[in-house]
Amino acid sequence: MALLLIDLDRFKVINDTLGHGAGDELLMEVSRRLRSCVRHSDQVMESSLEAMGSRSHRTLEAVGRLGGDEFVALLPEVSDERDAERVAKRILDLMREPIFVGGQECFVTASVGIALYPRDGATMADVLRNADVAMYAVKSAGRNNATLYSPMLAGKGREKLALETDLHKALEREELVLHYQPKIDVRSARMIGAEALMRWRRGGQLVPPGDFIPLAEETGLINPFSEWAIKEAARQAREWQDSFGFAESIAVNLPSRLFERTDLVEHIHDAVSTYGVPHHSIQLEITETGLMKELQSVIPSLHRLNEIGVEISIDDFGTGYSSLAYLTTLPISELKIDRSFVRDLGLTPASTAIVKAIISLARALGLRVVAEGVESLRQMEALHKEGCWLMQGFLFSRPQPAEDVEAWLQQTVLPRKAPWIGKVGEDDLSEAARALEGRGPRLKPAG
Ligand SMILES: [Mg+2]
Repeated sequence: MALLLIDLDRFKVINDTLGHGAGDELLMEVSRRLRSCVRHSDQVMESSLEAMGSRSHRTLEAVGRLGGDEFVALLPEVSDERDAERVAKRILDLMREPIFVGGQECFVTASVGIALYPRDGATMADVLRNADVAMYAVKSAGRNNATLYSPMLAGKGREKLALETDLHKALEREELVLHYQPKIDVRSARMIGAEALMRWRRGGQLVPPGDFIPLAEETGLINPFSEWAIKEAARQAREWQDSFGFAESIAVNLPSRLFERTDLVEHIHDAVSTYGVPHHSIQLEITETGLMKELQSVIPSLHRLNEIGVEISIDDFGTGYSSLAYLTTLPISELKIDRSFVRDLGLTPASTAIVKAIISLARALGLRVVAEGVESLRQMEALHKEGCWLMQGFLFSRPQPAEDVEAWLQQTVLPRKAPWIGKVGEDDLSEAARALEGRGPRLKPAG
């Protein structure tokens, strides 16, 4: 026996745009089409089942609506999984025909999860749950398809669920940590700040950011996490200030939506006051894409942050679509050249051109420019020659725990022991680069 769980893709859009009346009409048309895919659906009612006796159940195929935009098809006599897949394919094909509702032509697709009895479950509940697992696998793989349940899919679903449950507890369990990647001024071989990067120590194991940051964004946990990061960065700034006179900024990456919060300024104010460090100890990074997407709603925040002395840096610059006109009026201090251009610098003419363009754009606007992802001396020298001397990347240091940054400063930077130290001098500067000298960030003083 096979159970097909059929969920319409993005049905909510139809309800929201054409109204619930149209949504209902569409569901009825979908029902009609589903019935045409199975053989005896009209006969399936409690009474007829009883009349036929239990053995006849096997000949019955049925469709029903579970609720919302979710349907099931029961195929009691499939010879194998191919059989079930054929029916699923027929359903998907029929769905693709346009449907007229509310005087409008609509296109509907569906995601179909297939589970077999007894292979995929001994009870109705198990079979249904596993069809659901398969259906979700289709949804996350891009919808409009059908797939058979396999234990591997369930493992993934369960793993993700467990990860999400743990992620919700990460804050209270104090499992979040910040690692710091120094920002270097290569002319003087000095650390001029650091970028704080979030890590999750889940039960003693360090989870890579790629495995939990997207989930944190999906679940909205990124907001409390970011607020925590601001506080923790302020605490670290204080600790470094006490231990080696750190007076620069720690940059925290914030999702653009957090900039819309009217209490962001207060939160930063509270954080720096708690640890007795100046406002400029915290710098905020917003991605170019995030900034442009939420431009109108984040502008007031950017101005207020600028007024209290918190600098804004635009991350991944060059990968999004900036309105260059806005850059001249936004209260930002820094552009960070995306690592992809740095990687290909000197290798592809396009990347070289983009790096040059970003540096001269920053120069013209009086902004600092930082190159991300610097991994080799060749990249460092090329960037410096173009007039960019603020850098971060593996060449200097990986992101590391705060105490390791301190050790790195004491053992590598101060004794000038690293291969990148002393490689570039004032003589290497191009004419244009020299003109940049002394130009600070375009930050207006407080008050
Ligand atoms: Mg960043």
